[in-house]
Amino acid sequence: MASGLETIRVRFAPSPTGFMHIGNVRAALFNWIFARANNGKFIVRIENTDRERSKKEYEKDILDGLNWLGLNYDGLYLQSDRTEIYKTHLKKLIDENKAYYCFCSKEELDGERESRASAGLLQIYSGKCRILTKDQGLKRAIDGEKFVIRFKNIDKKITFKDLVKGEVGFDTSLIGDTVIAKDLNNPLYNFAVVVDDYLMNITHIIRGEDHISNTPKQILLAEAFGFKTPKFAHLPLVLNADRSKMSKRFLDVALKDYKEEGYLKDAIINFLAFLGWHPKEDKEIMSLSDIVKEFTLERVQKSGAIFNTQKLDWLNAHYINSLSVKDFISSAKPYLPANWELTDKMAFSVRPRVKKMSEIKELAAFYFNLPEYSSEKLRWKGMALDKVAENLKRAHEIINKIDEGSFNKEKIEAELIENSKDIKKGEIFWPLRFALSGSEASPTPFEMIEALGKKQSLGRIELAISKI
Ligand code: GLU
Repeated sequence: MASGLETIRVRFAPSPTGFMHIGNVRAALFNWIFARANNGKFIVRIENTDRERSKKEYEKDILDGLNWLGLNYDGLYLQSDRTEIYKTHLKKLIDENKAYYCFCSKEELDGERESRASAGLLQIYSGKCRILTKDQGLKRAIDGEKFVIRFKNIDKKITFKDLVKGEVGFDTSLIGDTVIAKDLNNPLYNFAVVVDDYLMNITHIIRGEDHISNTPKQILLAEAFGFKTPKFAHLPLVLNADRSKMSKRFLDVALKDYKEEGYLKDAIINFLAFLGWHPKEDKEIMSLSDIVKEFTLERVQKSGAIFNTQKLDWLNAHYINSLSVKDFISSAKPYLPANWELTDKMAFSVRPRVKKMSEIKELAAFYFNLPEYSSEKLRWKGMALDKVAENLKRAHEIINKIDEGSFNKEKIEAELIENSKDIKKGEIFWPLRFALSGSEASPTPFEMIEALGKKQSLGRIELAISKI
């Protein structure tokens, strides 16, 4: 295909050695957005060459995570299905004297590393087994000697134009002959990636900057095969607010944990898309489809991206508040005891205060169980208790007079305000609010009265008066 018309193909290549974490999600998201922005294809490749650490459970978690976020993919590959392909390619490199069997034992390599270190030399493999001919190597391997397969490094200066970082240069003499496979059936990451990216026609590799040191190794391998290398775009490191590198422990927080805590997918997506990218205009809230319309790799920043948890919470509160009451109720359901049925009015009253859906239980609890409280709590700024009782009686009277037919918060508010003009606002509304909710932080009394209904509201006010 002519290069101008080349179909863009990107891949998200997670290793299923743990639950899908935020670093993974960001890589997946940037690839997905780039593919969708360019009419391209988004491929998922499960990199499970590490047979001991890879688990089906994690693979499922990654695919479930993509699905939950709505990041649909156009192809799914498992490296474990491709052993024969890697084997053929490993053999080819060995046949062409570009890779060799290495029989050095761990002890030998440790010793070598130590002596090189004390001599002030680079800690790379000495190349001891490089001199073996391929037949010698093959024979010893067939005879059962333990081996690995190493790539014959080519010492040179490599430069590539990273679409984010700009020109990046490496001196490959600092790499040494790296191990590319444990044996013919067990290729390692750098090798499998190069073969796959080529065979899957990947045009752009978009991944975290922590992988940039793998890039020269992958370029050398691709050159050894005569493969055209994809373009690279390394996403900036994720930093703490003080610009220190974010610890793995933090970055490794699983997507499913965010989900369980009650972060909405739209908030996570908006937040992570902005972790290294910004639209032209100064705006913070963007839907995924708007991000796709505006996204270009040129606007991905070079410098580290700051992970600001408060911003995530703020975005989440925004998206929660934008949910329809119906969607809010269904999102809240998993966080509430089965017998707590949120009504539309209850939902409407608490929605503005929820930052994470997991908070809903605490914020809505007073509707279902009025907490115990002492009459002291009903006092507004040291007012006398008999005054509290008097004002609550006034509120009771006003509410009692409102018809069931027009029992809505606007009417309730208007009546209460109109008929309590002679009382300082705090001295009637604080006791009323406390009587209705048994807590200090709550929705407005008007919303609560509407949501609780006339009978329940009057009952709660009577209870408060009886405490005095
Ligand atoms: N399997 C690697 C990872 O999970 C993929 C790196 C890459 O995108 O090349 O980090």
